[in-house]
Amino acid sequence: MTEPIIELRGIRRTYQTGADMAVDALRGIDLDILPGDFIAIRGQSGSGKTTLMNLIGCLDRPTDGTYRFAGRDISDFDGDALAALRRESFGFVFQSYNLLSHATAIENVEVPAIYAGVRQDERHRRAGELLSRLGLTDRLDHRPSQLSGGQQQRVAIARALMNGAHVILADEPTGALDSHSGDELMALLESLAREGHTVVLITHDPRVAARADIEIEMLDGEIVSVTNRREHESPVLPIDPTPGTRSNLIAESMESMRTAFRSLSTNVFRTFLTLLGIVIGVSAVVTNLAIGEGAQEQILNQYRGMGANSLTIWPEWRQRGRILFSDPGAIEDEIPNVTAVIPELGRDLYVLSGQNAHETRVTATTPNVPAMRDWPLASGVFFEQADSDDLTPVAVLGRTVVDEIFPDGSDPIGEYIVLKNVPFLVIGVMTRKGTSDRGNDRDDVVFVPLMTGAVRLFGSRSIQSMTVIVDDDEFLEATENDVRGLLVERHGREDFRLLNRTELIANRQEANATFALLLASVAGISLLVGGIGIMNIMLVSVTERTREIGIRMATGARQRDILVQFLIEATVVCGLGGALGLALGVALAGVASQFDVAVAYTVWPMVLSFGCAAAIGLVFGFAPARKAARLDPVVALASD
Ligand code: ADP
Ligand code: MG
Repeated sequence: MTEPIIELRGIRRTYQTGADMAVDALRGIDLDILPGDFIAIRGQSGSGKTTLMNLIGCLDRPTDGTYRFAGRDISDFDGDALAALRRESFGFVFQSYNLLSHATAIENVEVPAIYAGVRQDERHRRAGELLSRLGLTDRLDHRPSQLSGGQQQRVAIARALMNGAHVILADEPTGALDSHSGDELMALLESLAREGHTVVLITHDPRVAARADIEIEMLDGEIVSVTNRREHESPVLPIDPTPGTRSNLIAESMESMRTAFRSLSTNVFRTFLTLLGIVIGVSAVVTNLAIGEGAQEQILNQYRGMGANSLTIWPEWRQRGRILFSDPGAIEDEIPNVTAVIPELGRDLYVLSGQNAHETRVTATTPNVPAMRDWPLASGVFFEQADSDDLTPVAVLGRTVVDEIFPDGSDPIGEYIVLKNVPFLVIGVMTRKGTSDRGNDRDDVVFVPLMTGAVRLFGSRSIQSMTVIVDDDEFLEATENDVRGLLVERHGREDFRLLNRTELIANRQEANATFALLLASVAGISLLVGGIGIMNIMLVSVTERTREIGIRMATGARQRDILVQFLIEATVVCGLGGALGLALGVALAGVASQFDVAVAYTVWPMVLSFGCAAAIGLVFGFAPARKAARLDPVVALASD
């Protein structure tokens, strides 16, 4: 005598529909199902057939009564164990097919095997085999919408069979099919029963029911008649009553990733809007830090090579301060311990020669640059004080400018270049200084005499900055005080800023810290807004895809699988936002650099902001993912 695979005793199911309203969908069902039975359940609509089937398939739990599956009382089983039973022992076939609409036929069939931890090549092979066996060899890569009803239902059966399916549960599988497809499907179910699968079929078609071995009729939640026409012994499939716990996180993650991209690509615009907050946040960080770094580098480069024994002075713009043309000379003459003062007045201008043009930094300064900066000339001479006094239009070129303006390699000395419509005679070329350690080209420069530049090019009545080179840096502080005192005396007030190199760097770093804090708050707010957007859209997505979640649960997904899927989706969305933000940030910084803004890219803010974006996905995706994971499979399946 064969042991029943399913034993129901006194099963009741009561739906609580209101505070004091309840529907008794099942009122004490006793039923034994033997392995290999082909059972048809008949009854009017509302008689409890679907409720019974959901209980048998472990999608739902009875309010009362005991259910033994392969001899084990499943009331002891927790959610994961029930999911394992659904995955490994049951195969569901629904009236409305319930295929994942974005996935191809073969992908749909593979789903239960993913949750069972079957390797990709193995499950692909098996899914292909099943579909071929069901006559769908040439439909493997079709989506459900490209298949007829009969074909979709065969895909659903292949999916049910994917993990073995000791028990096939089919709820009105022919309900949506034409009679021909319906007959084919019945023949298929019959042959599966002959092979040893237990088939439980709900139908309200007496013609269909008549083909089953056992016909059960239900009315108002009770079994009213059982007709047994069974005349043969079916082969019995071996069954392992212990639900498996195998799982394959990588395979599931890959699947989740695919699902994520699929749902993203079906809602490109919506996804983009959702991402916007994150994109803005990340790109703000990247752009601003690139510009901030660039500015700092520029300043440092400017004073690099002058040694620690220098002071830099520039006007305090808040006081409309000015450095006078006579200030450098006065400092050199009156303050002891000063080697030299280098005033600078510069602007970016186009240098023209014949057909060639190049934009460069034109710096008006004094003749002591080659000596003080340890920067000899390659050919020709540097200008003299007299050139400045006479406003002589002469220029000394950096190597880069020579390469750009005289590309044929001709000697530029004695040639004329044009700056702001003024022809300047080239009298010297500097040796190559090379790029600074941070990548600035120090040879991209044209030097002109201080007053020539001030009057003929810039129309400026004061100096932009000056550097005081101190002879003995042991007395740096005293010299600093002397210089300050002299300038205050000359200007009548302290309308300038004076920093030594150490202070200069510290000052810059302080400004940077403030800047970074400001940025962090901008980025933080954008990312927070982005995160809320993600949460919102994920909640919408869970609602839209409730049915899909139900299908996944019916095919054996654990709560954890659903949770992970939605978390991965949220993380993928945010990661994508992070990547877009990064690209945008780099692009914006690139645009800024076209407008003469110094830019320097550093890696860590990029990594950090990208990481933050992904983390936001995890944090803000959690609530929606948990909501999805906690859905009741029956309710989820019934949603539309
Ligand atoms: P059938 O499949 O035979 O048409 P069902 O099992 O779907 O019947 O339903 C049996 C009874 O239980 C019906 O009266 C139905 O209204 C009720 N019912 C089914 N599902 C729910 C539910 N989730 N909440 C409340 N009542 C339900
Ligand atoms: Mg029903």
